[in-house]
Amino acid sequence: MNDIDYYKILGVERNASESEIKSAYRKLALKHHPDRNPDDPAAEEMFKQAAEAYSVLGDAQKRQRFDQYGAAGLSGGAQGFDPSMFQDIFGSMGFGGGGLEDLFSQMFGGNAGGGRSQTRAQRGHDLRYQLEIEFVEAARGTEVKIKVPRSETCPGCSGSGARPGGKVSCESCHGRGRVNYRHGFMQVARTCPQCNGSGEQVVDPCKDCGGDGRIATERTVTVRVPAGIDDGMRLRVAGEGDGGWRGGPPGDLYVDIALKPHEKWVRDDADVHAELVLGFPDLVLGGRFEVETLHGTQDVEVPAGTHPATVLRLAGQGMARVSRRGRGDHLVHVVARPPGRPDEKEKALWRSLRELQERGGGVDGHLGQPEGDRSFFDKLRDFLRA
Ligand SMILES: [Zn+2]
Ligand SMILES: [Zn+2]
Repeated sequence: MNDIDYYKILGVERNASESEIKSAYRKLALKHHPDRNPDDPAAEEMFKQAAEAYSVLGDAQKRQRFDQYGAAGLSGGAQGFDPSMFQDIFGSMGFGGGGLEDLFSQMFGGNAGGGRSQTRAQRGHDLRYQLEIEFVEAARGTEVKIKVPRSETCPGCSGSGARPGGKVSCESCHGRGRVNYRHGFMQVARTCPQCNGSGEQVVDPCKDCGGDGRIATERTVTVRVPAGIDDGMRLRVAGEGDGGWRGGPPGDLYVDIALKPHEKWVRDDADVHAELVLGFPDLVLGGRFEVETLHGTQDVEVPAGTHPATVLRLAGQGMARVSRRGRGDHLVHVVARPPGRPDEKEKALWRSLRELQERGGGVDGHLGQPEGDRSFFDKLRDFLRA
């Protein structure tokens, strides 16, 4: 009479949910795992019983039969232990990084993860390229042809790595791509380490690529650089990275943008800053002055009595905005040119200007925009002394 109670073994109620059963089994499997309890037959027995219990209660059909007829209702008892179910439960265990791989390699003395495979289809690596762009090119947008060293599918063997007929069925797994491992009472199927699951072995490697299926080459790639691109931005060119292995897709190419500095202009996002150097008479009298912008020569109106450090804005004359519509502004920073050594005639003119100012005449009113008691000329003097 077989009165084995799988619910009792897992320590769950008869109406336990699927996830309760799974979680109870996880705990027991971890606790009594043979690697954690070496040379402990009692632990091994518990581990075995838990696996047996789970193989029944974790399967809806078997569980139903067990509920109705008991263990006797299961043909052949619990022999139907399914390795894939075992892998499934370990696959969902909350191990830290690499924990599962570690566990399997401990148990089965191999790398369960598979390692680098060059026999199975695999995506090629992503590549990076540093591209320097001229300031003005960044404003207009441009297309640049770059030469990228990369791997590509070997034309000699079409990526198979073998000469024609140079491939045979894998000896280890007989072409199945999977092998069964035995560990005590357990049997677990896993990817064949010999062929990494491809089921094939290269016996006569391609001469061109030495069996890798890819060759080193240099490819010219056209990169479309959008207007407004800025320093430090990155462009992705899909499918232009390294070629894949064994028919796998290629990686992507990432182009990192470095913007060359401009000799006259400084960029702040989409705004461009520039200087306009004016002598005293121009500051005092004002006028129209030519400035260079990204979009050609423009006239800028400098009002009479303009202070040094005034910023004049030419709206929409800056850089294109890379992710939005429109353009930034061109900002003109007015800078005073210090006077050279004045001759006698100039000195006489400045003297009479000073006298005008000291008499409290209309100089401020006409030429400056006084702030408190300080006139434009006071500020100008401060500026020049600084
Ligand atoms: Zn194999
Ligand atoms: Zn080849």
